[in-house]
Amino acid sequence: MKDIPTAMKWLMNSPRYTILNEWGKSVYNEKKGIEMFLKIFPDYYTSEELTRNSDSYNLENLFLEIKDSFYSKYGYYPKSELVSKYNGMLNSLYDGGNIRFVYVDELLQLSVILFIATLLTWDDKNDDLETYSICFRFTLFLLNDVCIFGEIPSKSVFQDVLPRFLKDIHIVELSEECFWTIMAFTLAHELAHEYLSLRSNMSHGDDRKKNIDYEEEFEADRIAYDIVLNNIIEANPKKIKLKNYTYLAPMMYMDFFDLFYYTDRVLYKKRIPIIDHPLPNTRKAALFRIVDDDKYDFDTEDGNDLYNCFLNSFDLFKEELLLKEQRGKLRTVTYTSRRERLEG
Ligand SMILES: [Zn+2]
Repeated sequence: MKDIPTAMKWLMNSPRYTILNEWGKSVYNEKKGIEMFLKIFPDYYTSEELTRNSDSYNLENLFLEIKDSFYSKYGYYPKSELVSKYNGMLNSLYDGGNIRFVYVDELLQLSVILFIATLLTWDDKNDDLETYSICFRFTLFLLNDVCIFGEIPSKSVFQDVLPRFLKDIHIVELSEECFWTIMAFTLAHELAHEYLSLRSNMSHGDDRKKNIDYEEEFEADRIAYDIVLNNIIEANPKKIKLKNYTYLAPMMYMDFFDLFYYTDRVLYKKRIPIIDHPLPNTRKAALFRIVDDDKYDFDTEDGNDLYNCFLNSFDLFKEELLLKEQRGKLRTVTYTSRRERLEG
């Protein structure tokens, strides 16, 4: 694979064809994923059950579900296709050229689910020193090697590292449910760009003014969260029903980006230029204002508990990272010259 120009790592200013064609590579492998899962958790599911599960719970079905919700809520059926590949970008995007598509990088999908599973495990077992230490190091690995440098974890990470701390099937299931809610949110956000661009009758393709239109970003977040919360509340039968205890998962998603930027600042004293979206904390505050509306009435207790567990580890990571950096304990994982090269 060609080296990806720096800006592609985080921004979305690359010509669209590269995403569709030239870099059309996928690292997702359902069969291998199931095999690895069964090695870590041999006692809970059969291979047939897992295959059936991923036949119904997958990104493509979720995408269709969100399109249906869009139609029933906003009277508009989005036309975009879904593209999910690996390009080392921590991003999703909407492209409104001749072929409209929503793109979600596999790097984003993988790092989000592992990030949540690690933080929830960490909180659950933070009195156990070994788990504490491995969860810190793995979170750092995710934010540093995977998110900053765009690397997909090697096979040995899945075979040797994950089984050392991901032992609780319940936590893995909770994390997966949070993951689906986050994907629903991000897909709905991108489809909202399609909807808003047509509504305002302006071109939303390559020539869009990326760094000015924060208003549209907040509106896309509002629509996306509205769709997610309605999926949670509504009783209609759905292919993919989001769990009510995941209702704050979009906040975890914002926290994930926040911690990613934070790690880059602490290790490399860099500020990743964020020109395409408002800052994660600003977006999170806006999301809280939405969910506080009385029209979203459902049981939020489990969701609040889950988010608090997540936040405990989130805070721990922030403290530990800074402390260890100040004591010079992170030198072996600080790849300064490699980070410089990313700047191009
Ligand atoms: Zn956006």
